[in-house]
Amino acid sequence: MEDCLFCKIINQEIPSNKVYEDEEIIAFEDISPQAPTHIQVIPKQHIARIYDVDDSTSHLVGKMTQVANKIAKEQDLLDGYRLVINCNPGAGQTVFHIHLHLLGGRTFKWPPG
Ligand code: AMP
Ligand code: ZN
Repeated sequence: MEDCLFCKIINQEIPSNKVYEDEEIIAFEDISPQAPTHIQVIPKQHIARIYDVDDSTSHLVGKMTQVANKIAKEQDLLDGYRLVINCNPGAGQTVFHIHLHLLGGRTFKWPPG
């Protein structure tokens, strides 16, 4: 989709440090990391918000989770890592192309801020 930052990353119009890619999913390092490991896992299909997921796209959310788990294992994060999806501005969503934050490498507090 035009004017979508993450679609531009998928199309390589904007550079990224990619850590994973297959036909449906890519993962790349966050530009402003909030933990020693902070990776964005996204579907190549443009979906604005997790709220918009339906029967035709829900498999992508499962795949995003599997990819995040694989990266967590590769990066030796199995002691503890956090997967976050922010939905809408009230929860902190700033990029309207769904993305799963994979955060690891430090201790996390609960509840989150
Ligand atoms: P959210 O606030 O949940 O919508 O998350 C958006 C994330 O995208 C933030 O963690 C940003 O740091 C990250 N981000 C924004 N621009 C880029 C970029 N060009 N490359 C990588 N990550 C980005
Ligand atoms: Zn997009």
